[in-house]
Amino acid sequence: MKIMTGMLSALLMGGGLTLAGLAADECPTNRIQETAKMETKKQMKIIDGHVHSGNSLLPGVKKYPKDLMWKELREVNASGAVIMAFPEDIYRRNNSAEERNDANAYMLEVAKGEPDIYPLYTVWTDYIIPTNLDQYAGIKWHRHDNEPKYDYDTPACKAFQREIARLDLPVLLEEEFEPTVRFIKDNPTLKVIIPHVGESNGGTDKMHVFFDNPNIYFDTANIDSKAIRYVYDAVGAKRMIFGTDHSATPKWDKISLPVSIKRIADLGLPEEDLALIYSGNVERLFGARRAAKK
Ligand SMILES: [Zn+2]
Repeated sequence: MKIMTGMLSALLMGGGLTLAGLAADECPTNRIQETAKMETKKQMKIIDGHVHSGNSLLPGVKKYPKDLMWKELREVNASGAVIMAFPEDIYRRNNSAEERNDANAYMLEVAKGEPDIYPLYTVWTDYIIPTNLDQYAGIKWHRHDNEPKYDYDTPACKAFQREIARLDLPVLLEEEFEPTVRFIKDNPTLKVIIPHVGESNGGTDKMHVFFDNPNIYFDTANIDSKAIRYVYDAVGAKRMIFGTDHSATPKWDKISLPVSIKRIADLGLPEEDLALIYSGNVERLFGARRAAKK
């Protein structure tokens, strides 16, 4: 608890958050003063832009159910998250269309009645277009270089891309470098978020080819601040999205919510830029569709 308090106090300095429930005898005088100063500032809204969620009942399977997610979001005063299924539930464990469907449907269940939860639909290599695709806030495209390939030349894959372009659904695209380039070229109208500032899409050092494209965003999940700073300096705050990817690994400090929030706070950015990165961009990108549906 002491450690957590220290982390939160540190991130308060950059983020303008309020710290609730901190007993006076837990912290030195200057920290109380800092906290008090921050109480007067507007609280900064935080939405975690990269969270995997799942409620599998099987033992030994990754899970991050709704209740645990909310507990951890609340611990840092975060308002919500962009959520997607675990690759384990999409294909790694059983590779069954039915299980994929269940895993994706759980995202809608978690998001129900929660305006700050943005559910993504994860597409796999069977390119299933569910009849309720328009209920999702966006798409997760997921592949590492050691995983089965999406075949972008198949009619089904093309049909899927046409449908998400028609619905104007933003895509969180995790792919190798060449397919990333191709996807973006083939879908010029789509907003694309590249996770980990490009680390798993061929490397952050290759991302410069997308810097001039206003449709391409980058998330800050599970990556060091040097890489985040490099991309921020190139594209600006409007195209950066805060995220953790910490789902189901809450004890993994490197990407825990408090550490990830602090990593951004420590960049020393202007408050208006922090507001965009922590939540503003997600709300603009994913929010328009949800508002239109109400
Ligand atoms: Zn992830």
